[in-house]
Amino acid sequence: MENLFTHFDLTEFPQIDRKEEIIETQKKVKKILKDSRNQAKKKTCYYCGKPCDGFCNSHTVPAFCLKNIADKGKVYYANTIIDLPILKADKGVNEAGTFHLICRECDGKIFQDYEEPLNYEDMPTIKMLAQVDMKNNLKFISKRLMEKELYDLMYERMGASTDYVFQKQNISDLDLKEYEDSFRHAKKCALKPFTGEYYIGFYKKLEYRVPVAFQGFIAMIADLEGNIINNIYNKDPKYVIRNISLCIFPLEKNSIIMLFVDKYNRRYSKFFKQLQRCKNTEEELAITNYILFSYCEDYFISPKVEKDILEKLKRLMGKTSSMLSDMPTTIDEQLEAIKKVYNFSERNIVPNLLSKEYAITVEN
Ligand SMILES: [Zn+2]
Repeated sequence: MENLFTHFDLTEFPQIDRKEEIIETQKKVKKILKDSRNQAKKKTCYYCGKPCDGFCNSHTVPAFCLKNIADKGKVYYANTIIDLPILKADKGVNEAGTFHLICRECDGKIFQDYEEPLNYEDMPTIKMLAQVDMKNNLKFISKRLMEKELYDLMYERMGASTDYVFQKQNISDLDLKEYEDSFRHAKKCALKPFTGEYYIGFYKKLEYRVPVAFQGFIAMIADLEGNIINNIYNKDPKYVIRNISLCIFPLEKNSIIMLFVDKYNRRYSKFFKQLQRCKNTEEELAITNYILFSYCEDYFISPKVEKDILEKLKRLMGKTSSMLSDMPTTIDEQLEAIKKVYNFSERNIVPNLLSKEYAITVEN
């Protein structure tokens, strides 16, 4: 659901109609994306507040996960599969899915517990969950800061209307504040972990290495029975979208699959109960696989996964853009329509990359 390209709605620029102009626009967009990334860089470390020249290239998933799925140092990023023309097809382990908000010293310290593969012998500690939460928030804070710059540049260079830019900036600001609050809570928990600060609703340690890695927030829309979890059309500024954290960590000989929330977030309790009632692991993994590919875009896939398998997964991708075209008008109608889009029915049709069938053999 999170993709900067969705913000470049070409209907905002009705003057673009010829092929050359589209190519020209893509070039401009590419430049704007690059510039907004640079302009969003802060002068001080977001964690310790000290002045900072060289920011760390922080990975969103622990580097060990990427190494475990890489082939000759390369991993596939979601954009490979959805064929976004502007981005490179694959990325080296060092540049994929990174953000630049904290200094090197902090990066080497504040995520240490959860980025240590040996710490997954037992259930993750509250401190580890808080560190994951901290990073998930940082990833969004980084995205929002960049978006704010992006809208300014769209106004300056592409003639986007002030109303459009103002409205988008407003949404980004509200969103940013929520992630900043959430980050502060996670930071506090990581420093002083107390039992009960986080709740793990689903946890599996698999006896094989999955070919996919992911870490991040997901704002689920509906549960397995079609009950709404987040009403994404609720315009009330007091209504808060609640995220669930999903981790898919390929270890050397195992994989960790986990869904968790913080203690203030009760919106997923029904969904967790439904998941716990599942018949078997295969079913639970099919559901998690469905959530990953239908809701997320920033996962990493091993190049060892066959192309035709990725092709089949395309069914689940780009759900957001496909459903926006003929959206019904009232909020209730919109909710009904989007519930259908994310109704889990395809979970057994698409390949389940988390199942043993797609495990990658241990060699590197
Ligand atoms: Zn720092």
